Amino acid sequence: MKGETGFAWLVGVKLRRSRGVLIRATIRYLTPTVAGVIFPIMKLDQLLARFSTEEACKTYLVSKRWPNGVECPKCGNKKVWHVTHRPFHWICKKCHKHGYRFSVITKTVFENTKYPLRTWFKVIFLMYNSKKGMSALQIHRMIGTGSYETAWYMCHRIRAAMKDEGFPKLLGAVEVDETFIGGKDKNRHRKNRQHTGTGGIGSGKVGVKHLKSSYPHKTVDHAKGEYVRGEVHPQNLESFWSLLKRGVMGTFHNVSKDYLPLYLAEFSFRHNDRKNPDIFGEIVAGC
Ligand SMILES: [Zn+2]
Repeated sequence: MKGETGFAWLVGVKLRRSRGVLIRATIRYLTPTVAGVIFPIMKLDQLLARFSTEEACKTYLVSKRWPNGVECPKCGNKKVWHVTHRPFHWICKKCHKHGYRFSVITKTVFENTKYPLRTWFKVIFLMYNSKKGMSALQIHRMIGTGSYETAWYMCHRIRAAMKDEGFPKLLGAVEVDETFIGGKDKNRHRKNRQHTGTGGIGSGKVGVKHLKSSYPHKTVDHAKGEYVRGEVHPQNLESFWSLLKRGVMGTFHNVSKDYLPLYLAEFSFRHNDRKNPDIFGEIVAGC
């Protein structure tokens, strides 16, 4: 579904020592016909009905994790044996002389937690359904068990699973823009200011600098109060920035530089896959 269902983002993070973090993103337009299609995305009652038992969750995880049949998570061997009387456990005789035993959650983000998959699946559902993100505190209140720390840990592990694999080459008109998270650019010393909004028309794989030298390209200068020049504008990116910033300030209150890439992954994944009917499965597969 990638590249057909929404805008595509390249979110890179540059960490700056002085106040704030610079982020650069690229957006790609889609054909209106594809973008206009509405897909049915799973609703809460469907989630609860579908994953009413731990077994149902495990069966689903098997299908998402190994769509072409179970394989050893250690060596990739496809010839594995079921462990007798232990459902969802297998043994690989190739990578260990006494046999390597693994289960459906071995080497996934669900490993080493006492939480059932049903709880994990609910947290995943809550995370991708809240546009501005959901704080670990809120998740903790909603799942009703365990500690805040556990909820925080679960959210971060799910964020790590929300990675867009492979970014398609950009074609046609793209927007490129940069923003700061934390600290305002205008408060910086003039020589340290970074932000010049760039609405690019052209095609290219990376950001502003690359476009300048190789592709037809136009800019608007935010520093001079210019936001639109003809058809050149970074408005779609700006709505993404405002959503991201409202999420960071309103939901998460304070995000450290170290964890910012994870929040960016979450926001851009949610945006990219917002029309993907199998967004849930996509996340589970990445876990
Ligand atoms: Zn193996």
